[in-house]
Amino acid sequence: MRQISKLPRDTGITGWNAVLGVAPAYPAAEGDITADWLVIGGGFAGLSAAKRLTELRGGDSIVLLEAGRIGEGPAGRNSGFMIDLPHELSGDGYSGSADGDRLQISLNRHAQGFAKAAAVEYEMPSEAVDPIGRVNGAVNASGEAHNRAYADQLDLLGEAYRRLDADEMKELTGSEFYSSGLFLPGAVMLQPALYVRELAVGLTTKQTHPVSLYENSPATGYDRQGDSWLVTTPRARIAAKRVIMAVNGHAQSFGFFRQRLMHVFTYASMSEPLNAAQQGRLGGMPAWGITPADPMGSTVRRHRGEGGSRIVIRNRWTYDPSMEVSEGRVASFRRDHERAFRRRFPMLDDVAMTHSWGGRLCLSRNSVPAFGELEPGFFSACCQNGLGTAKGTLSGIGAVELATRSNSPIVQDLQSCDAPQLLPPTPIARLGATIVLKWREWKAGAEI
Ligand SMILES: Cc1cc2nc3c(=O)[nH]c(=O)nc-3n(C[C@H](O)[C@H](O)[C@H](O)COP(=O)(O)OP(=O)(O)OC[C@H]3O[C@@H](n4cnc5c(N)ncnc54)[C@H](O)[C@@H]3O)c2cc1C
Repeated sequence: MRQISKLPRDTGITGWNAVLGVAPAYPAAEGDITADWLVIGGGFAGLSAAKRLTELRGGDSIVLLEAGRIGEGPAGRNSGFMIDLPHELSGDGYSGSADGDRLQISLNRHAQGFAKAAAVEYEMPSEAVDPIGRVNGAVNASGEAHNRAYADQLDLLGEAYRRLDADEMKELTGSEFYSSGLFLPGAVMLQPALYVRELAVGLTTKQTHPVSLYENSPATGYDRQGDSWLVTTPRARIAAKRVIMAVNGHAQSFGFFRQRLMHVFTYASMSEPLNAAQQGRLGGMPAWGITPADPMGSTVRRHRGEGGSRIVIRNRWTYDPSMEVSEGRVASFRRDHERAFRRRFPMLDDVAMTHSWGGRLCLSRNSVPAFGELEPGFFSACCQNGLGTAKGTLSGIGAVELATRSNSPIVQDLQSCDAPQLLPPTPIARLGATIVLKWREWKAGAEI
C-alpha cells in the first residue's frame, strides 16, 4: 500500500460552523466496502464531485470519505465570496487577457449556477447561497487606482459595475473607513459551513441513490488492486473502480505534485452577534461583503443568519509547507483582526470576537490547478489557488466529467493548463514566499 504521509489538521474553531446548530453526524467507515466511485475529501471539490456523479451516474454506488467533520475543514473556514470575475491572488492586481478572463467568468458563473441549483434542489436556507454581489473597497489613492484599473478592464469585458463614493460606502457598511468602492453585482455570498453541510445532507438524504458519506474517516493508504483501487481508513478497506481525490494541498500527502504545491494559510475572526443597540449605532445594510482593492488587504463581511448579525474579518497570510499552524499563531492574528475591526467600526468598541481560526489554501507558482487522471481511474481535483468556492466546485465537476468522458468546457479548460511548476527547495521557497507575503502585506498597508 502507498501510505498517505500526513492527515489534515485545522486550527481554531470556524465561527461559520460554530454558530449553526448541531451538525448532522455521519458514521465512520468500517469493514469492507465496495463502490463504483470513491470521492476523498468533503470540501467544495469533493461534495461537488459527488453531486455531479449523482447527476451523471445516478445508479452507481458513491462513497465519500472526509478525514474530519463536514464544515470544519477549509470549506467551512473561508469568507464565502464565490466570485465570478477574475481575481488573481498570486498576481499584483486584477489584470489579465480579455479572452482568458471571459472564459474564466463564464466558468465561474457555471460554478455559481451549480451552487444556486443545489440550493434550490436541496431546499437550503437562503443565507447559504446569497447572490448579493460584493464591493471592492478602497481606502486611499492606491486602492482607488486599483479600482480604476479594474473598472477599465470591466469596461473592456462589457461587465457591469457601479462606483460608490465615501457616503455610499457608509450607507452600505455604516463605516467611514472606505473612501470609495466598486460594486460588483455578480458575486454570490455563501455561508460556507452551512452550504457544505446542506450539500452533504442533500447528497445523503435527498437523492434516489444516496451517497454514502463517512466522517472521521481519513484515507490512510491506497493502491491499485486488479481493475479497482483499494483505499484504507483506520477501520475500513474500500474497493472502488474510480477514485476522485479532492483534498486540495493534501494531494502532496498522497505522493502527487511533490515540490509543486504552495501551502498558504490565511486567518479570520467572527464577532459576537450585534445586539439591537449596536446595530443601531453601526447603521448600514444588514448583509454585505467587501473585498480589499489590494488583494492583500482585509476581507470584511456582515452576515445575518442563524448566528445573528455578525461581522467577519479576514487578513494575514503565512507560508507553511508543513500544512499546519499553531493555536498561538491564530491567537496572535486575532489581535490583527481586532485592530482591523476597531479601525473600521470605532462605534462598536464594546463588540468582542467570539471565534478565530486559520485555514489552508493551496496555490501553484503558475496559478494552475492540480487536475487530471493521474493514474488509470485515479483523478485529481486539487489546488484551487485560493479561490476554492468557485474553482473547487469546478474542479470537482470537471473531475467527474473527465472520468465519465463527457467532453465539457470545464474539462477542456482544466486540461489546457500546464502542470504546476516545480518550486525551489523548501527552505528557499519558504524564505522567498515569506518575504513576498510580508512585502505585499506591507504594501497593502492601510487596507489591512
Ligand atoms: C480564512 C479563509 C478565507 C477564504 N476565503 C475564500 C473566499 O472568500 N472565497 C474563495 O473562493 N475561497 C476562499 N478561501 C479558500 C477556500 O476555502 C479553499 O480554496 C477551498 O476550501 C478549497 O476547496 P477544496 O474542496 O478543494 O478543499 P478543502 O475545502 O480543503 O477540502 C478538502 C477536504 O479534504 C479532506 N481531506 C484531506 N486529506 C484527507 C484524507 N487523507 N482523507 C479524507 N479526507 C481528507 C479535508 O479534511 C478537507 O475537508 C478562504 C480560505 C480561508 C482559510
